[in-house]
Amino acid sequence: MEIVHEGSALNEVLAPARLKGDPIGFVPTMGNLHDGHLALIGAAREGTHLRVVSIFVNPFQFGPDEDFQRYPRTLEADLDRLREAGTDVVFLPRVEELYPQGPENVTRVDVPVIAEILCGEFRPGFFRGVATVVCMLLNIVRPDVAYFGEKDYQQLLVVGRMVADLKVPVRIESVPTVRDGNGLALSSRNAYLSARERERAPRLYQTLCRARDALASGRESCQEVEHAAAQSLVADGFRVDYFTVRRASDLNPPTPGDLELVILAAVWLGRTRLIDNVRLRLALPVA
Ligand code: AMP
Repeated sequence: MEIVHEGSALNEVLAPARLKGDPIGFVPTMGNLHDGHLALIGAAREGTHLRVVSIFVNPFQFGPDEDFQRYPRTLEADLDRLREAGTDVVFLPRVEELYPQGPENVTRVDVPVIAEILCGEFRPGFFRGVATVVCMLLNIVRPDVAYFGEKDYQQLLVVGRMVADLKVPVRIESVPTVRDGNGLALSSRNAYLSARERERAPRLYQTLCRARDALASGRESCQEVEHAAAQSLVADGFRVDYFTVRRASDLNPPTPGDLELVILAAVWLGRTRLIDNVRLRLALPVA
């Protein structure tokens, strides 16, 4: 497994594969790797010849009051996991290479509408930071396929839209959410949860599943489902940023006739923000 810090060194390492036309797979991460990340690498192993994983805690996507400083950084353990997972190249870019003039002075990528709602509304600037750094990383790595988790469903759509609009020559593949046995979606931020919060956290996924089942059965409308879910989450001790039913393709509110939906939630448990979602396909269109 090669470890490189510079884009130029990465290009040298990837040159033989490019020359041969071997497909290159890319998994961008912020490190503190768990089985969710490994699922992306597993998909890359199946789909491509050579796997590049980046670890970069991107300062540009964190707000001034967010957790950039305390975000878990576990490089040595991450490298062990990457070796075991069959990673070929690890790219560890430095902040100075990606942002030579500082994040505040970089050319930024703003994806309209889809990046402005939901998490975009509660975390202003977050998707600007994500779209900008993913665009840069795709331009440096130039992979054939890049892998993203459905856990961050809005991010997946924002990246897909950015790549389509800017004609970035890459295919985006999505990978289903990996969960603990109790249903909690794996996330680096779960490390912030206290023992008591960790016990309570799986209720987010349970509430999403209950909402999905109620919608699928046709017993309840989207508004009823959203209202009941938000109430029960508050009763369980969560603070709710949003719990909402949307059209899966573009995150607009569903209109009559829509069948492919996604229920998305962002909640706080103490100082930890958790996001999760479930997809559903209705047998009958929403009324
Ligand atoms: P992060 O390191 O949190 O920025 O995540 C890097 C990639 O891993 C993103 O594409 C995430 O959507 C994906 N990811 C994070 N958690 C999970 C999970 N539990 N299951 C599947 N993919 C995940």
